[in-house]
Amino acid sequence: MGLAASIRRLPVEVNCRACYSLPVVQGLEFYLSLAVALVVAYLLAFWVALLIWTFRDIRSRSRNPLTALFAVLLVAVFNIPGLVLYLLLRPRETIAEQYERTLEEESLLQELEEQGACPKCKARVEDDFLLCPNCRTRLKKVCAGCGRALHLRWNVCPYCAREAAPAVTAELTSRLG
Ligand SMILES: [Zn+2]
Ligand SMILES: [Zn+2]
Repeated sequence: MGLAASIRRLPVEVNCRACYSLPVVQGLEFYLSLAVALVVAYLLAFWVALLIWTFRDIRSRSRNPLTALFAVLLVAVFNIPGLVLYLLLRPRETIAEQYERTLEEESLLQELEEQGACPKCKARVEDDFLLCPNCRTRLKKVCAGCGRALHLRWNVCPYCAREAAPAVTAELTSRLG
């Protein structure tokens, strides 16, 4: 009785093990393909992000569309080594930095021209000099109200709000006086 029952039960057990293990294998395959799909999706997203970053970076550094195309192609084809190459070859400054530097240089130059030196002979002059001590070029005019030195092109005195005489008249009066 006991033996017969165990013999009858055996194939059933084997069958059951087989029908349990099939879904497990299928499940494993499913998770594996899911993992592969996730990795592929991640790599794809990474690749696209690299391209977008490169495109934005090169647009901030160069206005030339051919340069931008070349940079994006470099990263698209060679990926991370391409990105390293791009980082080595890209223009050092962004357009904004370039613009800022030009502005700074220009304002520095203007400051030097306006304050440091005579516009005619480039001799060193002080800010409140009325004439260049070297070539006698008129640098400033005198305010009739407060007596301070004004730029020749100023129409009104910024210190006492008095209308400033035109440069020619100022020169005449200063010569006469
Ligand atoms: Zn001078
Ligand atoms: Zn004044």
